[in-house]
Amino acid sequence: MDVRELYQELILDHGKRPRNFRVLNAATHTAHGHNPLCGDKLVLHLVLDDGGKITDAAFQGAGCAISVASASMMTELLKNKTRDEAQKLFTYFHALATGETTPAFPLNDTDTARLQALSGVRNFPVRVKCATLAWHTLKAALEGATTTSTEGA
Ligand code: ZN
Repeated sequence: MDVRELYQELILDHGKRPRNFRVLNAATHTAHGHNPLCGDKLVLHLVLDDGGKITDAAFQGAGCAISVASASMMTELLKNKTRDEAQKLFTYFHALATGETTPAFPLNDTDTARLQALSGVRNFPVRVKCATLAWHTLKAALEGATTTSTEGA
């Protein structure tokens, strides 16, 4: 199995069996994200403690396999990250998905390497919005916004 096949497996697995797919009643931050180009919709829930650390992250919604897999992988990575680390992950993933740069790993965290599974979307501009939706929703939630769209507004 080559690396690309392995990554494909990872996306299929997370797309079919998303992790952290649930409501978080204790959420301190919640935002809705929408990608009108594909029809992907999700709600992201975060629990931040008093020190600004993300203690739990979950999402719900409906969308294509790429958008669901991306949200699933993101919520796994966010646990026990600080707000600052989450922002660094956003910047890293955005660069990775759009192919603007080849970013260095933002954190000393081997789990982050799994996000490279989604880097193939850079060759498919429409799919970039699917992959980055959850991340834009994360940014909105951390900034106190309740909604975001990949098409602005
Ligand atoms: Zn999509």
